Amino acid sequence: MTYVITQSCCNDAACVDVCPVDCIHPRPDEGGFDDAEMLHIDPRACVDCGACVDVCPAGAIVADHEMTAKDQVFLDIARDHFAEMAVAPRGRPFLAPAAYVAPQEILRVAIVGTGPSACYAALELLRTDGLNVRISMFDRLPVFGGLLRHGVAPDHPDTKRVAEAFERDLSPESVELFLNVEIGRDLSHDDLLRAHHAVIYAAGAAQGRSLGIPGETLSGSCTAADFVGWYNGHPDYAQCAFDLSTHRAVIIGNGNVALDVARILAMPPEHLAASDIAEHARLALTTSRIREIVIVGRGGPAQTAGTTSELLGLASLPDIDVLVEADREHIRPASRKTVLLAELAERKPHPGNRRIVFRYARSPISIEGRARVEGIRLRHYEDVELLDCGLVIASVGCRGIPIANMPFDEKSGTITNIEGRVIGADRAYAVGWMKRGPSGVIGTNKRCSAETIAHLLADFGAGRLEAPPEDAAALRRRVAQRQPNWLGREGWQAIDSFERAAAKGSARTRLKLVDRVDMVRIANGRSVS
Ligand code: NAP
Repeated sequence: MTYVITQSCCNDAACVDVCPVDCIHPRPDEGGFDDAEMLHIDPRACVDCGACVDVCPAGAIVADHEMTAKDQVFLDIARDHFAEMAVAPRGRPFLAPAAYVAPQEILRVAIVGTGPSACYAALELLRTDGLNVRISMFDRLPVFGGLLRHGVAPDHPDTKRVAEAFERDLSPESVELFLNVEIGRDLSHDDLLRAHHAVIYAAGAAQGRSLGIPGETLSGSCTAADFVGWYNGHPDYAQCAFDLSTHRAVIIGNGNVALDVARILAMPPEHLAASDIAEHARLALTTSRIREIVIVGRGGPAQTAGTTSELLGLASLPDIDVLVEADREHIRPASRKTVLLAELAERKPHPGNRRIVFRYARSPISIEGRARVEGIRLRHYEDVELLDCGLVIASVGCRGIPIANMPFDEKSGTITNIEGRVIGADRAYAVGWMKRGPSGVIGTNKRCSAETIAHLLADFGAGRLEAPPEDAAALRRRVAQRQPNWLGREGWQAIDSFERAAAKGSARTRLKLVDRVDMVRIANGRSVS
């Protein structure tokens, strides 16, 4: 028997740490880890101990004899991986940071953000031997979780479970939450340095990139960040309205975000009944008249940016036709991804089903329409095609939002940094998408955060982090003065309990609050307005 890692792998590598026989790869210290779509268990080396199952935060590991037919392919993927590795090991290995000598002093660190990269950075500090550390975590929203709450698709509950593990492991004795507090507006970097040795920016990449083509400001055109924020109940997007009365939606870009958006648009509403999708979005999708979602890629099938595991998940959804518009013989079956896409090129649509269609070798030229979107012009080699549609969603990546007085690289949309040390700002560090741009999956941030923390601790050990003049009580006073509606851990727990209780009696895990004022009222023991 062997255990197998399946679709919801978060690459967090918690499993690697507990495996007694080192059979899970790539490890964070091995080449290929940063680019790995998922981790794999070597079926020849697994000793069936189940240690990995117990620690997997996403519930992604199953015993081979308990696998569903849908999961069977992941055993084949693991076998392929180890066969390939035997022939050609990949990439540059991670260089372990220099040994760190812990000073006696308590290290006080502020982390801006409460998403995965922020949490991994905090855990890395808490798990450092011999280090006495206190952490303040800030979020501009009154809720905890960042991307886990507002980015991960609502029908991926296993991935969202990672947030519960973070909350459990970030103990209140060492980690204080300051929610509904925006750094750069309510408090400055210098304010944070008054009470901390260092500040780590983990604010993610919240702004969707646009296409830069005519017609993008028409009603019916948006970025995936807008649409994802809307269906996930992000307070900044809850008031958006999307006209779903059109028969066709077009998504530009074919990464995992595009796949998430396509799935949510195509799913029969009853399939979202057990998700934590925002109620306004669930209701709007119930009356959607969209029948076809076209996913447009610039390159060919082999350049599809979505990962193999997400494509497999999409292709196996019931009641949705997933099709590839290309001749099968033009798709070279060089990888599992292209083999799958070639199979999809042969599928025939079922009358009555909604369909997701992948189209390739097309670049957007302009969005057309008088008052609102009526179509999109695409260049296909020498030809120009007009595809009629009422909704265009640009899913072409995202970028960080600059923070006041922090050096920012406009091109990459990140804080200017080298391996997480911010260039040109005092005692500032960066992790996650704010540091390296939007790449990788949830667990990729663990290695990324470890690199930054190694530098921070080296600076602390070398005496380069000045001791802060103020204590935690002074910080709390300053926060309360600048943002009287700030919430601590108890406030967030009250919101969390309220949302879970509101979903009682339904299949849903929670009914999300989507309004900041309501969140603060619930946190303070009042009812929603
Ligand atoms: P992505 O994977 O980088 O995909 C971006 C897509 O946009 C690519 O297809 C790219 O095509 C296309 N594109 C870029 N500029 C374009 C332009 N001007 N015109 C047309 N197409 C353009 O980004 P993402 O989908 O936003 O995902 C971000 C990260 O989050 C990824 O690492 C992803 O794996 C991760 N994520 C993971 C999950 C999951 O594990 N379930 C879910 C969501 C997101 P080209 O190749 O032609 O540049």
